[in-house]
Amino acid sequence: MQERLLDLLERLGTAINEERRKQGRSLSLHPTHYRILFYLSQCNRYSNTPQALASYLGLTKGAVSQSLRVLQEKGLILVRLDDRDRRVHRLYLTQKGHQVLQGLYPDTLRRAVASLSPEQVRAGEEILRSLLRRWQASRAYRPFGVCKHCRFFLKKDGKCYCNLTGETLSPKDAELICYHFQGGGSG
Ligand code: SF4
Repeated sequence: MQERLLDLLERLGTAINEERRKQGRSLSLHPTHYRILFYLSQCNRYSNTPQALASYLGLTKGAVSQSLRVLQEKGLILVRLDDRDRRVHRLYLTQKGHQVLQGLYPDTLRRAVASLSPEQVRAGEEILRSLLRRWQASRAYRPFGVCKHCRFFLKKDGKCYCNLTGETLSPKDAELICYHFQGGGSG
C-alpha cells in the first residue's frame, strides 16, 4: 500500500518535470531553474540568498551558482549585494522571471486540480505537507515553513513582528516562506 502512494508521488513528479522540460525548451530552462524562480517568488527578505536557496533545493552551492548564472544571463533574476552586509548576495526575480513563472505548472494539471473540491484540495495539501515535514525532519533539512506559522511570529495590536529579528512584518511577509522558520507557532 505504501509503495502505491510512493509510486503516485513519483509519477506526478515525473509528469510535471516532463511538461516543464517541454515548456522550457524555447528558453532552455531545466526543472531546477523553475524551482529556483518559484522559490524566489515565495521566500521572504531573510531567505533570498544563494545559501538559503541551496538549502531549500537540497543542492550544493556550486550547482546552485551554475543555475543562477544561467538565470541571470537570461534576464530572469537579478543578483545584488546586500545593503547592510556587502558579503551577502541577494537574489530577485525580474519582471521577465515573473512572466516565465506563469508556466510553472502545466495548464492540464492546473485544470485537474481546479476540478477537485476545496475539501479535497485542503486534505491533499495537509497530507503532502505532513509527508514532507516528516521526511525533512528525518534528514535534518530545514522546513522552510510559512512565516505566520512560525514560533517567532508575533501579532500585536493588528501588527506583525518577527521575534527573532525584532523587525516588523507586513501582511504579505506573513504569507512567505523563511529560511529561519521554526515550527510550533500558533498561527
Ligand atoms: S517569524 Fe519566523 S518565519 Fe517569520 S521572519 Fe521571523 S524567523 Fe522567519
